[in-house]
Amino acid sequence: MFNDPQVELHVHLDGAIRIETLLDVAKRRGITLPATTVSEMIKLCTVDKPGTLTEFLNKFSQYMHIVAGDRDAIKRIAYEFVETKAKEGVIYVETRYSPHLLANCDVEPISWNQKRGDVTPDKVVHLVNEGLKQGERDFKIKARSILCCMRHMPNWSMEVLELCKKYQNHGVVAMDLAGDESLNCKAFPLHRKAYEEAEKNGIHRTVHAGEVGPASVVKENINAAKSCFLPEKEKKELLNQLYGAYGMIKDTCF
Ligand SMILES: [Zn+2]
Repeated sequence: MFNDPQVELHVHLDGAIRIETLLDVAKRRGITLPATTVSEMIKLCTVDKPGTLTEFLNKFSQYMHIVAGDRDAIKRIAYEFVETKAKEGVIYVETRYSPHLLANCDVEPISWNQKRGDVTPDKVVHLVNEGLKQGERDFKIKARSILCCMRHMPNWSMEVLELCKKYQNHGVVAMDLAGDESLNCKAFPLHRKAYEEAEKNGIHRTVHAGEVGPASVVKENINAAKSCFLPEKEKKELLNQLYGAYGMIKDTCF
């Protein structure tokens, strides 16, 4: 399947970090881990049997502290992500992440028990953009990003919107809402406000909905479900590239 060009529109940057990179960065930063080999680390960071979404999301806490707040690591994971995707045959990818979860400054609370540093959410977006851009140049594919609001952190959402606005011409193509859906978003009007403002400002919007829970979760979905956030002209070029490769497009999710 990897011989034909692929388009990937839903992949989490912080869920796609190379295990070797985690071990390498931990070593450089002097972070002690309960795992020291790749196979031990895989066991620690991944799930191998079905569980709840909450259990699955808890895996992030095993390794996010390794890369969060570290400029080189943040840029590196973005760059390596593009390399991996290019090797898989992906020609266009949209990757999503929460800038706040990788920051250690200007964020309340600071995640993963990090000490306060000087990497703000804004700096995180800048670093990821740099990594993606460098990856695009070196591996000749297109990589864009989507910034995630987090369900449990409504006070971050307006900042996410501001970052989407600031970087919309620098690789950021949309805003997302991610995290544990067992939290009822109706109780958090700040998410709704951010989405309404995003619409007014022409920011594309998507949202995680329906991974767990009843249809009411999906109902919370605010004007989403419009995938591929490339501008029309670029989207056409991409479709032509796919059309050329496959002869026809049977099922497209654009
Ligand atoms: Zn997702």
